[in-house]
Amino acid sequence: MSTNKPRIVVLGAGYAGMMTTKQLTKKLSPDEAEIVLVNKHNYHYQTTWLHEVAAGTINTNQARVMISDVIDPNRVRLVYDSVVKVNKDEQKVKLENSELTYDYLVIALGFETNTFGIKGMKENAFFIQDIDSSRQIFEHIEYQFAKYNNEESPNEDSLSILVGGGGFTGIEFAGELAEKVPKLCRKYDIDPNLPKIINVEAAPSILPGFDEELVAYAKKSLEDRGVEFREGAKIAECKEDAFVVNEGEEIKAGTIVWTGGVTGNSILKKSGFELTKGKVTVEDTLLAPGEDNIFILGDCAWVMDKEARRPYPPTAQSAMQHAGTCSSNIKALLRNEPLEEFVFDNKGTVASLGKSDAMGTVFEDKKLYGKTAASMKKVIDNRWLLLLGGPKLILKKGKFRPF
Ligand code: FAD
Ligand code: NAD
Repeated sequence: MSTNKPRIVVLGAGYAGMMTTKQLTKKLSPDEAEIVLVNKHNYHYQTTWLHEVAAGTINTNQARVMISDVIDPNRVRLVYDSVVKVNKDEQKVKLENSELTYDYLVIALGFETNTFGIKGMKENAFFIQDIDSSRQIFEHIEYQFAKYNNEESPNEDSLSILVGGGGFTGIEFAGELAEKVPKLCRKYDIDPNLPKIINVEAAPSILPGFDEELVAYAKKSLEDRGVEFREGAKIAECKEDAFVVNEGEEIKAGTIVWTGGVTGNSILKKSGFELTKGKVTVEDTLLAPGEDNIFILGDCAWVMDKEARRPYPPTAQSAMQHAGTCSSNIKALLRNEPLEEFVFDNKGTVASLGKSDAMGTVFEDKKLYGKTAASMKKVIDNRWLLLLGGPKLILKKGKFRPF
């Protein structure tokens, strides 16, 4: 590929990075710019399915898509390497194994789990962060079940699973566990009354701030399938085999998963960006403040909802929409045209509660429950595959399993 064209470097092949790259290939002619996509692995993964990988309810491979299957390597230079740092002054990106210069940079490196400095959390809890960390969780859970009947004095607590944080990730994960744990009991000859799935939430209720009726529905659905909730229980410490909550009470388990919050990728800090709670508050154009060639998207960015005077929540839905504005603005910069402002189009929120149940809101706050919501969730999941790789990808990786 020619090197005298302006070079656009996209960092991260998640929702924001993949969609930006795809749209750039459509909006720009091949001689207008060289496009480079950098990602840690040669595959894109569906972050929104990681809780299913962690519970073992889907095969890891279903949640990944080879990048070269959906992005033409003849049009986009694909670099599989880890970003170490961005050097803004020299317009360079340091990778683990090489270095790249850029004319335009898109930072879409996603989130990192935030432990808020809780004692022992980093050392003792698992995180649903990427494919590797998620499949390790299921491996660990299955090992606890596999070894139980082979121990001289088996410890019942070792079968239990603690989920720290009752946000959407924690609740969706608990829903998958409610489905998987009975199957593991049958597989390993274990009394289904022994393992506990316990969700621990600091706020007075799980899913704080979400529609109360839908929260009550989610809670009942999960409780009916054996999930226990400890609300108003702030986790102060994570030990090897327990959360310590409130006044020192210990809740024990053999598997501990922290889903208590996320922050922006630490590369932002290493690269000297000004941060608010780990992320960059971007301009309405999605440019980083004070920069005219660096866009920051997805979970690395705070994009302000001016009406509500707070940032939009970090979601795949937003990340995909950022890509539209960012790719248009790169085109505008290349052609000396005015930039556009990001406008969020809220399509609602639907959370799964296992394979055949879900709840959420769509189309201007219309509430959905049960199988209708579960079907809607599958439509949302498959829509991303359609945008990414067309009908062929839906057939290969889509969700069609009947209830
Ligand atoms: P990501 O999709 O996380 O992608 C980041 C990419 O950067 C990855 O490919 C990663 O490998 C790569 N990367 C990271 N560091 C480096 C590095 N140093 N070098 C090179 N590459 C790197 N949102 C919804 O709207 N709906 C949902 O149903 C939903 N469900 C969710 C379920 C779970 C379990 C979780 C954890 C989140 C969910 N979210 C959901 C939130 C959503 O997944 C995120 O907001 C979204 O993934 C953000 O997209 P992104 O492109 O910013 O980052
Ligand atoms: P979150 O920040 O939304 O939720 C974390 C939860 O952990 C909160 O309820 C918080 O009160 C609790 N918590 C924090 N510290 C605690 C402590 N010390 N003890 C006990 N509880 C504690 O994080 P998330 O659930 O990972 O979600 C991250 C983002 O991804 C959000 O924007 C969310 O909307 C999005 N997401 C969306 C979906 C969906 O749309 N279906 C699914 C998953 C995630």
